[in-house]
Parts: sequence; structure tokens; C-alpha cells
Amino acid sequence: MSKTYKACQSCAMPFKYDPAGGGTEADGTKSVMYCSYCYQDGNFTGDFKTAREMQDFCIKQLVEVKKFPRIIAWFFTRCIPKLERWRGK
Ligand SMILES: [Zn+2]
Repeated sequence: MSKTYKACQSCAMPFKYDPAGGGTEADGTKSVMYCSYCYQDGNFTGDFKTAREMQDFCIKQLVEVKKFPRIIAWFFTRCIPKLERWRGK
């Protein structure tokens, strides 16, 4: 049985907030690990090499687009380095 995830394993966004309900694999099936913002057609979008880069990007988005206070944005993104995509990086 494969593991199920409640949130994207790249950016930590809960799948319930993803309008597409998840990213897509190369064969068109839904990804069970990554959201539609991070993962399309079997490839990661954007050019993030480390969890820190992803976290900085997400904080910026939350602050500038969603108008979250910086401390709240940090709170929502603090688990990014522990997600599957960034393990061992
Ligand atoms: Zn994501």
C-alpha cells in the first residue's frame, strides 16, 4: 500500500487548498505527493535546489500575495525541510 499525504511534499501546501487537487505525473495521473504548483507532467516546476530556496519563495508568496504576516508565513513553511523532496538535501 502506498503512503498517502495530506500536504504537498515539496512546498507543504495542504492538498485541500490546491484548486487542481494535486500535480500530474508524466502519464497524466494525479501525483499523490506533490501539488499542482510544484509538479506538472512528471517534472518539478521552478528551479529550487534546496529546501531553503523553496521556503524563502513560499514565505515571499504568502507575505506578498496572501498578505500574511511574516511570522505566520514562516510558521506555515517551517516544516518544508522535513518533506520528502528535501530529505538528505
Ligand atoms: Zn507544492
